[in-house]
Amino acid sequence: MPLKIAVIGAGIIGITSACRILDFFPDASITIYAETFSPDTTSDVSAGFWEPYCISPEQAGPIIKWGKETYDIMLKESLSENADKFGIQALSTYVLQDTEKPKVPYWSDIVRQFRLLNKEDIFSIVNESNQNFKSGFSYLTTTVVVKKYIPELTKKLKDKGVNFISCKINTLQEFINGNGSTYDYIINCTGLGARNFVPDSNVYPVKGQVLRVKAPWIKQCIMLDTNEVTYILPLSDVVVIGGTQQPNNYSLNKDETEFENIINRCSKIYPSLRHAEIVSTHAGLRPCREGGVRLELEVLNGVNNKKTKVIHNYGHGGSGVTISWGCATNVAELIEKDSKCPKPKL
Ligand SMILES: Cc1cc2nc3c(=O)[nH]c(=O)nc-3n(C[C@H](O)[C@H](O)[C@H](O)COP(=O)(O)OP(=O)(O)OC[C@H]3O[C@@H](n4cnc5c(N)ncnc54)[C@H](O)[C@@H]3O)c2cc1C
Repeated sequence: MPLKIAVIGAGIIGITSACRILDFFPDASITIYAETFSPDTTSDVSAGFWEPYCISPEQAGPIIKWGKETYDIMLKESLSENADKFGIQALSTYVLQDTEKPKVPYWSDIVRQFRLLNKEDIFSIVNESNQNFKSGFSYLTTTVVVKKYIPELTKKLKDKGVNFISCKINTLQEFINGNGSTYDYIINCTGLGARNFVPDSNVYPVKGQVLRVKAPWIKQCIMLDTNEVTYILPLSDVVVIGGTQQPNNYSLNKDETEFENIINRCSKIYPSLRHAEIVSTHAGLRPCREGGVRLELEVLNGVNNKKTKVIHNYGHGGSGVTISWGCATNVAELIEKDSKCPKPKL
């Protein structure tokens, strides 16, 4: 019998999980349930930049594994005929630090073209007024226009018969007590929603604000590794400038002063950004989790003690795009391993 699977959530995590499950089990019957779809998910707010960021470094081992797989896929797609359709490109990133000694990230071995920067390098990249930067590193990264990527992946899923249902499900237990018990596996990709849906009080928001501006003359990513979150990230259509990081702020209201501060900080790096046309402004909530991403299989009891298998895949913080494909493969591997085991007495 083909597997019957429910995926809850249609952000980058739910969509890539469904794609990978179909790669492993082409006959699987998949239904995706979600309250919001692209372009209205947190994933759509994302800058689509590959770099492990705002995620618990306690999980360095898995992040390296998930991040490498995603990096390799994105890089390959940037060189494929789909690059424009997906809005994926590869470009140089410069991370600038205000310490004499460079801080080398734990993931430096998995990216291409990694190298440390000297002062001469730094002033060939940013305006000379930025004297506080003394060290840093560069590497080849990718950016993806998530608003293009999710719809393209969704189209592929629909072509393969995946069903999409728009609805809010109050709790996982409520789902399992009803329709949910008919599935072999429920894949929980509810992002920040997991806080109430599971419920999991370890999940919390880190609010971020970014602007999308027209600045086609900027061709490289700049990240400042300083106390204030500052980045300039060209996508294939616009440049994302940011940002902010406010833990436990649940408000999606846009703070105009924060946008002005972002423009001021980014204009210090590139004065030409001061007058760049603003295309849109965004506020979003990164789905962070104490202890990091939850990616594991759990067996829960439904009505009459009927056992239902749930695979959790949530809590990706500021790195959901960066580790999406690696986590999705991990989900499919959990199903593969579990479905080969002798069936428990249900
Ligand atoms: C300003 C900002 C910039 C960012 N930039 C980057 C970046 O450059 N690179 C990067 O890797 N990451 C970035 N991130 C982080 C990234 O956006 C997240 O890690 C990622 O979106 C998480 O994906 P997700 O699919 O888990 O969550 P979401 O995109 O939030 O999707 C969750 C899905 O679950 C559904 N759902 C939730 N609860 C329920 C329920 N009860 N019933 C039904 N459906 C439900 C939602 O409707 C939605 O479809 C950024 C985030 C912000 C805010």
